Amino acid sequence: MSDPFSIRVKFDLLKVGHCQHPECAALRGGGRRAIDFPALVGLIEHPQRGLMLYDTGYSRHFHEATRRFPECLYRMITPVTLPPEEELLTQLESRGFRASDIETIFISHFHADHVAGLRDFPQAKFIATRAERARCEQKGRIRRLRRAYLRELIPEDIEKRLHYAETMPQMPLPAMWRPFEVAHDLLGDGSLLGVDLPGHAASQLGVAFHTEEPVFLIGDACWKIEGLIRDKTPSRLAYLLFDNGAEYDATFAKLRALHHSAGAPQIIPSHCITTWHERGGTRRIQHD
Ligand SMILES: [Zn+2]
Repeated sequence: MSDPFSIRVKFDLLKVGHCQHPECAALRGGGRRAIDFPALVGLIEHPQRGLMLYDTGYSRHFHEATRRFPECLYRMITPVTLPPEEELLTQLESRGFRASDIETIFISHFHADHVAGLRDFPQAKFIATRAERARCEQKGRIRRLRRAYLRELIPEDIEKRLHYAETMPQMPLPAMWRPFEVAHDLLGDGSLLGVDLPGHAASQLGVAFHTEEPVFLIGDACWKIEGLIRDKTPSRLAYLLFDNGAEYDATFAKLRALHHSAGAPQIIPSHCITTWHERGGTRRIQHD
């Protein structure tokens, strides 16, 4: 087994559309004014395996999947903005890449704002957790919609292309990642390690790696980095949407402890506008 993180990858953070919610939805005690919740996507370049994505953000498929009742309620409650220049394929093209250049897509969880672009990558392999895949196939269109699952966004051949993180070998995380102790070795070389972050959804695949610094992509385990800094969980109303509030709190507490520990990795929540302003817009990964 290789040492964790002995292989370093390149990383850029992309913004693929956004929606708006009051700040207090993401931070208890926050303001009522609407703030942007970007849909952030990780673009990762592995020195041998090539290009990978962490989630896909929004896409035109989201608008198609929410055209009819009852799915249109999703779009009414959460209006989405996706300027043409932010479409994922357009951003990849501007770096000299095509959809077929993406080898693997790590799916944090199957909520629509994370998987809306999967259909644009017909050759990519997917890695997600088995627990979350099972939840997005639950019976009942309304029940799925209430949990932000839109089946129309999922490629028909997903079962052939999907690999489960739980089936991959476990590896101890270095001490600086405490209280997270073990992870799944997602590529078999210790470069990208998958950590389960349950609560927001049935399960969530967090991905840990080293670029110039350690980075931890955490999906929706926390919506704004200020939540970890100030120990502010989301509003009580938001908990109604979570799969398991107690598990959300346990995951949040572990992330908070990690954030405040010495040598903490850069923790990147998928919808944090502060993180986007601090970390987004870099172009380390381009076709040469
Ligand atoms: Zn989300």
